[in-house]
Amino acid sequence: MPTDININEAKNLSPGTMAPAGIYVVTHRDPAHTEPHEVRIAAPMVLPECNTCRRVRFSRKRDITPPIEESEFFRSLAAINH
Ligand SMILES: [Zn+2]
Repeated sequence: MPTDININEAKNLSPGTMAPAGIYVVTHRDPAHTEPHEVRIAAPMVLPECNTCRRVRFSRKRDITPPIEESEFFRSLAAINH
């Protein structure tokens, strides 16, 4: 079983690692076929291999940005009361 990782230590994760939800920066090597880019992991998952390269790594950058409807500053009164 993959072990859960501390969110603050979720850097340079390899495929096969159980990753918490969040926005990740992905880097590709062997070959470096694309620039580092962000992906959103909506729910904890085992990180996948890249289809193109052999050394993909995932670094957790931040929490997922919540939709405006979930912000306490913009919720309608109806939403708060239900
Ligand atoms: Zn790749």
